[in-house]
Amino acid sequence: MKKFMIGNWKMNQSLSEINAFFNDLNLTGVNCETWIAPQALHLSTLLLKASGTNIKVGAQNISEEKSGAFTGEISPVALKDLGCSFSLIGHSERRSLFNESNAVLNKKVLLNQSLGLTSVFCVGEQLEERENGMTDAVLKHQIVEGLKNYPESALDQLIIAYEPVWAIGTGKVATPEQAEETHYGIRTVLVELFNRAGAQIPLLYGGSVKPANAEGLLSQENIDGALVGGASLKGEDFSKLSQIASKLSK
Ligand code: PEP
Repeated sequence: MKKFMIGNWKMNQSLSEINAFFNDLNLTGVNCETWIAPQALHLSTLLLKASGTNIKVGAQNISEEKSGAFTGEISPVALKDLGCSFSLIGHSERRSLFNESNAVLNKKVLLNQSLGLTSVFCVGEQLEERENGMTDAVLKHQIVEGLKNYPESALDQLIIAYEPVWAIGTGKVATPEQAEETHYGIRTVLVELFNRAGAQIPLLYGGSVKPANAEGLLSQENIDGALVGGASLKGEDFSKLSQIASKLSK
């Protein structure tokens, strides 16, 4: 499987910073899945910048509704129409800052799927939950509820990103062994839900990934790539991350 390197730019990057990013980006010889999720205002700019490259562009969030009187929301129908191919769903910042419940996230995943968009469905435990030995149970609950009624026939539109909340933007990265052990648990849940097809769903790790620690993480058997915040903002770092993902792709 080709490894994934997905940049989550969050609410960052001005137009001049985007220009600098692309000036510094060097994907020569890179053969992995290189995806970027800019803030919604910059989706069109990114699609233009990415045309002629292998970079896929997607959103950080979508509405659970297709269209209508939902001021300020991002329509997944418009996202697809624009030429985007994916959306993050259930990033921990959406769950905690915008109170997105598993039920709402489930609606978003199913809507994305019905429109032919890929969902990068994010799950993760809080530090307290890990310290209390609840990690596997918390992740199982998020996955079972978030993927309720997800059709086995559309698993090629599904990616899971494991992002321990305590590792996001904190500089505290899970060790490769910790991440692999947790991914193995997630893999087991996915096989319970989708039988053998569940074993093929890409599982990404996210949380303070940078060029210095990416190789150790991406070398693990059940880590198929990374979802990266801070280190995805600079073209030079994102190039290095994509080169590592490419080197470890099969
Ligand atoms: C993220 O927000 O998805 C993330 C993993 O952030 P960071 O890499 O900055 O920890």
